[in-house]
Amino acid sequence: MLHPERTPRQRIIDLITGTRLSSHQLAQMLAIPERQVEEHLTHVVKTVARDKTRKFILDPARCQDCDFVFRDRSRLTSPSRCPQCRSEAIVAPRYGID
Ligand SMILES: [Zn+2]
Repeated sequence: MLHPERTPRQRIIDLITGTRLSSHQLAQMLAIPERQVEEHLTHVVKTVARDKTRKFILDPARCQDCDFVFRDRSRLTSPSRCPQCRSEAIVAPRYGID
């Protein structure tokens, strides 16, 4: 069976394989809202988890001012404020598949 249209999830998997992209970059590349990218990503995580040859990588968000790393964050959305120094200069998390 040929699938002429790849779904956004398949395209996200293609785009982040072997690299790291933020949801903002993915939103621009797919021309869909960032919130939709985050929804797709939660499913991409499950899809990749079933595939033993691939691994989903989450580069956690980080504070630019104090280098605090949001390691425990399980949600895929970007945090807005640093809990340590209250800075809003947060580097967005980036996603990839190896
Ligand atoms: Zn900070």
